[in-house]
Amino acid sequence: MRKGLFLDRDGVINTERGAHTVRLADFEILPDVPQAIKEAVDAGWVVIGITNQSGIDLGLYDGKEMERMHGYLHDVLAERGTAMTEILYCPHHPSKGKCLCRKPGSLLLERAAARHEIDLSASVMIGDRERDVLAASAVGVRGILVEPNTSLLEILRTHRMIA
Ligand SMILES: [Mg+2]
Ligand SMILES: [Zn+2]
Repeated sequence: MRKGLFLDRDGVINTERGAHTVRLADFEILPDVPQAIKEAVDAGWVVIGITNQSGIDLGLYDGKEMERMHGYLHDVLAERGTAMTEILYCPHHPSKGKCLCRKPGSLLLERAAARHEIDLSASVMIGDRERDVLAASAVGVRGILVEPNTSLLEILRTHRMIA
C-alpha cells in the first residue's frame, strides 16, 4: 500500500481566480508546483488531483477544454521529469442533482485509493476550502487547509512531507 498526496486543483496547483477556470489561457500553474510535485513523487507520494469542476455541468467549458488544461500541466511536469498519477474530477453542479463525487463527498478519494492501492490512513489532502478537508476526514485522510495560491513547496516542507 502506498501513501497518497491528494491535491485540490484551483488555488493549490493553479491560481484561484475567484471564478471558474474556463479555458487554457486562465490556467496558470503556481510557480513552485512542478518542483513541489517532483519532490513529493521522489519522496514516495502518489500525487493525485481531486477537483470539483461544476463549470462543466453549467456549460461554462467542456471536458475537452479541461483536458487541454490537464495536458498542459502534464507537459510542464514532464519537462521537470515528473508526473501526477491522475487527476480525478467531479463535473456535476449541485443545482442539477446530488452526486457523491463532488467534494465534500469523498467518492473520488475512495476511487483513487482503490485504483492505486493507496492507504487512506497514511494519506494527505491539501485544499483551500473547507469542503476539501471535509472530504478527506470523511475517509480517514489527513486534511490540510491552506490559503489559496500558497506555496505548495512550503506547505510540504512545513508538514515534513518532503525533506
Ligand atoms: Mg480550490
Ligand atoms: Zn459529482
